[in-house]
Amino acid sequence: MIATVPETAAARLRVASIPARGTPCALLMFGEIALKGRRRSAFAAVLERNLRRAMRRAGEVELHRRGSSFVVTPPPEGLASALEVGLELPGLSVVQPALRIEPDVDRAAQAAVELLRDLEPGSFAVRARRREKSFPVCSMDIAREVGATVQERLGRGVDLSHPSVELHVDAYTRELFISVDRLRGAGGLPVGTSGRAMVLLSGGIDSPVAAYRMMKRGLRCDFVHFSGQPLTGPESAYKAYALVARLGRFQGRSRLFVVPFGITQRLLASSGAGRLQVLAGRRLMVRVADALARREQCEALVTGDSLGQVASQTLRNLEVVEGAATLPLLRPLIDRDKSEIIEEAQRLGTFETSILPDEDCCTLLAPGRAVTWTDPEPLVELERRVDVETVVEQLTERALEMWPRLDQAASEPEPTASPSSSRPPGTAPISRPGSGTRAAASASSPSPSDGMREPRWASDAITARGAVRTSRSAVARTGSP
Ligand code: ATP
Ligand code: MG
Repeated sequence: MIATVPETAAARLRVASIPARGTPCALLMFGEIALKGRRRSAFAAVLERNLRRAMRRAGEVELHRRGSSFVVTPPPEGLASALEVGLELPGLSVVQPALRIEPDVDRAAQAAVELLRDLEPGSFAVRARRREKSFPVCSMDIAREVGATVQERLGRGVDLSHPSVELHVDAYTRELFISVDRLRGAGGLPVGTSGRAMVLLSGGIDSPVAAYRMMKRGLRCDFVHFSGQPLTGPESAYKAYALVARLGRFQGRSRLFVVPFGITQRLLASSGAGRLQVLAGRRLMVRVADALARREQCEALVTGDSLGQVASQTLRNLEVVEGAATLPLLRPLIDRDKSEIIEEAQRLGTFETSILPDEDCCTLLAPGRAVTWTDPEPLVELERRVDVETVVEQLTERALEMWPRLDQAASEPEPTASPSSSRPPGTAPISRPGSGTRAAASASSPSPSDGMREPRWASDAITARGAVRTSRSAVARTGSP
């Protein structure tokens, strides 16, 4: 298997650490929050909290703040994971795998030699930064001294403009950091510094990417998925579950609401929606998402719409759908080509789940040809006929709430799910809303029998555990909207 960049960097540090008498660690620099003036320290506190939570993946880490950076020292076997966390966490702009050594320039020179020893031959440049002015040697002298030692011991030539490798020395009063890798972090703002949003998550490729983009602008995201159950199978809900679990890497455990929407689609069809079926369904989804969002104190909605991607996303139709929202509706992918979105989904690790087969609840019962220009009048009339307020209220109350999670558990048994099921890796089954009253009846005591069974899908050693409960008064309700 090909080693990842964090794995290669971690291995390099491990080898050099003994002769260099240094400790492998990760130096993580703030991104944009460094610019935030007086709010900077509040932003940094949120980032630190997010970082501590995300770093649990790397084991017991030591974490300290140093000016505009954090120093994370994980156990040796956790270094690659710590670097990975640093690279994907919103709010960090630079990730430097480094050796931490005593604050002494001779020691820095020795460490530099050890780090460069096994690299391909070629030129080098030392980039020294005195991060605290109380460090007694200036940047220029650090660079000169370290550079001279490397030249003498390894015979490498100096090239300050186009070096084959750059050696970074970051000097603090009580410690020095030496590294040969300076990796670009995710950037953006720490999750939670811009507020909270409800993401409409379809189970397709676009909406998880839209969610990630908004997380990177500091929004903490909750998710709502509309499944075609009971007119369709539960596959799309499994996908939503796995996607939310995956997106939890960027913001911590996340909440998903699953709304059974099949009966409502049938109601729209039997009320004469005709060619307006898709748009009427979309407007209803937006209304329910809006109501859930308000109930859960979210301040915006997010969708994966991209202008012109499909008929429901012409400018006119986007306007008609947006008309159903009372909160701001954010569309971070509005100007993206599908190919760009796919690339990003692959990078985020959501693509494989998104392309698993499922039944789209939007096109359920929709006649063949979609409309690209819709007059809102007949839609409003249709909504009056179906008593849209009551439908929204019932669907909102009946939303199943869950906290998806993927666990590493190598000891899980082999999958026993039916081979025809398209449940993705890491998802647990969700009960069909046809049996929604059963799920609701056990709502108050979340357990695997609340619609979630214990993990299967051990084929890639990822398993799922999730507590499911229905929203507040669902227990009392049994009727369909
Ligand atoms: P995606 O856009 O996520 O790849 P898709 O292409 O199947 O899925 P579209 O038809 O493009 O979905 O829908 C546009 C947007 O509407 C989605 O990105 C999503 O935000 C929202 N949406 C569509 N269907 C659903 C659904 N079943 N549940 C929740 N949101 C949905
Ligand atoms: Mg789409």
